[in-house]
Amino acid sequence: MLGLMQDWPLLMHTVLDHAAIQHPHRDVVSRSVEGPFHRTDYATIRGRALKVAQRLMKDGIRQGDRVATLAWNTWRHLEAWYGIAGAGAVYHTVNPRLFPEQIAWIMNHAGSRILMLDLTFVPLVQAMADKLPLVERFVILTDAAHMPQTSLRNAVPYEEWLAEADGDFAWVRVEENAAAGICYTSGTTGDPKGVVYSHRSNVIHAMICTQVDAFGLGAADRVMPVVPMFHANGWSLALSAPMVGAALVMPGAKLDGASVHEVIERERVTFSAAVPTVWMMLLQHLEATGARIGSMNRVAIGGSACPPAITRAYQEKYGVRVIHAWGMTELSPVGTLFAVKPEVAHLTGDDMLRLQAKQGTPPYTVEMKITDDDGRELPWDGTTFGRLKVKGPAITRRYFRREEEEVLDENGFFDTGDVATMDENGYMEITDRSKDVIKSGGEWISSITLENAAVGYPGVAEAAVVSMKDAKWDERPLLILVMKPGVLSPNLTQMRDFLADKVAKWWLPDDLVVLDEIPHTATGKILKTRLREMFKDHRPAA
Ligand code: AMP
Repeated sequence: MLGLMQDWPLLMHTVLDHAAIQHPHRDVVSRSVEGPFHRTDYATIRGRALKVAQRLMKDGIRQGDRVATLAWNTWRHLEAWYGIAGAGAVYHTVNPRLFPEQIAWIMNHAGSRILMLDLTFVPLVQAMADKLPLVERFVILTDAAHMPQTSLRNAVPYEEWLAEADGDFAWVRVEENAAAGICYTSGTTGDPKGVVYSHRSNVIHAMICTQVDAFGLGAADRVMPVVPMFHANGWSLALSAPMVGAALVMPGAKLDGASVHEVIERERVTFSAAVPTVWMMLLQHLEATGARIGSMNRVAIGGSACPPAITRAYQEKYGVRVIHAWGMTELSPVGTLFAVKPEVAHLTGDDMLRLQAKQGTPPYTVEMKITDDDGRELPWDGTTFGRLKVKGPAITRRYFRREEEEVLDENGFFDTGDVATMDENGYMEITDRSKDVIKSGGEWISSITLENAAVGYPGVAEAAVVSMKDAKWDERPLLILVMKPGVLSPNLTQMRDFLADKVAKWWLPDDLVVLDEIPHTATGKILKTRLREMFKDHRPAA
């Protein structure tokens, strides 16, 4: 017997339709790439997104075609995003922080036929245009007045291009499992991999993100996605904010502490989301100027582990609750979020901060387990760590154009490549990437735990731990430090003494080197592959 409910497919543009009907005048404010702030609302965004869809079809774009964007978070990017998916095509958000060769590789692999780009990226794209043979047209996200001289094929200012559509158009009907978007993993090893989101996975994932114990979004919120739409599906905010009628505040290209603060104050932002580096920069700005962020009440921090010092400062000094979150491109991206369950509500002070350093618990739709290398499930005791595996409707099962490659285990779980513990209350803590974990004498040493402990040493700006080959133990930890300007580095003995009460004795690093700079990936993570390459022949002096 089947249920007798209506067949109402979960399509991305139904979210924008809802926002335009229920919250037509809600603010969508952006710092434009051209400079001034720009104000619009959901009703207008919907009208223009319909024009984008209509205009794309006039350019020959059809269902399933990929249309790329290389753009900051602004209202135009938002319209383009919905317009592309609403034409039945597939938005392909490209990360401009990648190397040009990687961008070209990704564009060609995705086969994107049109590229919509911000003014900022015109020089970058112009220099590599001959490597983008599949792109038929470049739409510059600006108006005629700001259009630069460019040799890009069929280049046109977005506003003029859009004006050629009258908006008398209906969304292209696709089924809910049709592809809506594609986002490539940052690829620290090998070629980047294309993760293909469906309309259904995007809508389900956005609904989960709005929950009280997730981002807790509502119509009274003023949401500022600092995390760019090109990073891991923009953490769902371009969907979850309009879904509940929250205002959207788009920060554009300027993401330094002072600029982010200006937008928060000006637009009375209540909720925001970004990687720890952004919140660190804002914190430095607040400390240096004595400024406040009175309208903010919570902030989601993820992408890499959020240091307890950041959590403490935001919560205790600025009254902003920190929602530590973990996820990855393959998970749409949210996998866990930190919220206080009744079982841990009695914790206070440092004990609560210690718990908040964990990445949180999976919401409904994310099944989670940890296993050993042979796939055997490990206990949820908060100390045993193993491979973190996940399953759910917004989690990838294949990569684009690598359909022959199996990425799920025999029970349908996706191996995240992260190593983690789970505790008795279901809180997950990342202890490493599986490639980064140090395998010493058959046991695992968490490089992240060591790094977090080492940055507590006065004057240390950044720490990274990689393995050194060792005849007896196979691998041993090497600690790499960057010091704050003008601060002398500790020697190995001083550092080992400092770490002695923070980690197990056999985890203590066997050597220490100091660099001026640690290499990072395009999304700000430590580039361990490069460090491993740099130190592959390194052996401790003694
Ligand atoms: P990306 O797909 O670029 O978002 O990268 C995903 C990876 O970032 C994950 O597999 C983790 O290794 C790492 N990551 C994301 N969030 C966190 C977090 N809160 N703590 C530690 N690592 C994280």
